[in-house]
Amino acid sequence: MSAPLLEVNDLKMHFPLNGGLFGAADRFVYAVDGLSFRVEKGETLSLVGESGCGKSTVGRAILRLLKPTGGQVVLGGQRIDDMSSSALRPLRRRVQVVFQDPFSSLNPRIRVRDALAEPINNFRLAKNRQELDRKLNALMDKVGLPREALGRWPHEFSGGQRQRIGIARALAAEPDLIVCDEAVSALDVSVKAQIVNLLGGLQAELGLALLFISHDLAIVEHMTHRVAVMYLGKIAEIGTKRQIFARPRHPYTEALLSAVPKPDPDSKRDRIMLKGDVPSPIDPPKGCRFHTRCPYAFERCRSEEPRLKEVERGHEAACHLNDRAAEDNPLLSGARA
Ligand code: SF4
Repeated sequence: MSAPLLEVNDLKMHFPLNGGLFGAADRFVYAVDGLSFRVEKGETLSLVGESGCGKSTVGRAILRLLKPTGGQVVLGGQRIDDMSSSALRPLRRRVQVVFQDPFSSLNPRIRVRDALAEPINNFRLAKNRQELDRKLNALMDKVGLPREALGRWPHEFSGGQRQRIGIARALAAEPDLIVCDEAVSALDVSVKAQIVNLLGGLQAELGLALLFISHDLAIVEHMTHRVAVMYLGKIAEIGTKRQIFARPRHPYTEALLSAVPKPDPDSKRDRIMLKGDVPSPIDPPKGCRFHTRCPYAFERCRSEEPRLKEVERGHEAACHLNDRAAEDNPLLSGARA
């Protein structure tokens, strides 16, 4: 089996809160606290969870916009978390990003042509002017925008069109992986569907891998291969789309899924209302981090942290309920076929 495109091993992102005695920080925000996953070539892995669970911080660590506190980020077999900026430079091309708000990542004083040409020139991907023009035209074709729009300014486009330009800019670097950080969250429903379809089509055409960071499970269901559910800086559950959506093995996943609208009016899925707010990542609960909100919490959950364990081939969950016999596991008795 070939090596994965991206491996994240025991990633930690701890942000100091304040300076303690002698200036050393004595409190930290444990935004990401020991998280591991892989992304294969040409695959979409979705990282989902409520806002503040640390999923965007993971994206930024992979992009090396933030330096990890601990753990490893391995791209194509090379560790990039501890690389110097100069060593990292040629590898930066391979991982690009599409942010939620494309307007903030497009300079309003730079025409689309120059915004798209920048990565091509920076990474020396065109030998001459003719090749550059060919690549720019091809990018506009790929994202479904007219070629003549290359001469326009960012403010002349709608939100959906700007997101197409953001995708074109990411593609311009000819990456292997695109981190889509809430890339469709700010768009209207119909535009959202168009952009999701565009990303899916590009992935199939170009063999791209996507790390799709989102709080919206309804969108994720349409376009992902696998799903990793995050809660308070850790992975609660990871598996294929089918495993996660049809047979969740963590109460948090079950609750998130219960909030996804179902097209079938006869669907019997009741909404599970989680009690309380997400606890602070400064002082996460002992034992299972989810125990303060979990409808099934029992004594062991308050003292012992559950580890991610395989519950079926390719499907892991961090919940003590999975150590029980099937008839005593409420996740299995309520499982959807
Ligand atoms: Fe709930 Fe306990 Fe499972 Fe945590 S370990 S999710 S508290 S049942």
